[in-house]
Amino acid sequence: MDCAHCGERVKFQAKVRNRQVIANVYVNGVWDRVEHFHSGCYDLAGLPYGEIEGPLDIRKTARSA
Ligand SMILES: [Zn+2]
Repeated sequence: MDCAHCGERVKFQAKVRNRQVIANVYVNGVWDRVEHFHSGCYDLAGLPYGEIEGPLDIRKTARSA
């Protein structure tokens, strides 16, 4: 799983303060893919799927093409 922003690997490490964001991306209401971000990269990317609420956030997006 590579970070969708910086392209570096995102490791799942629940203890570490480096958080990750997992975003389920829907295109036209149909699941398309999962994107992973380092939490810092998610901020840098401009919160593409909304605000982060938890340490391991799973987002559903409703994007239209
Ligand atoms: Zn990253």
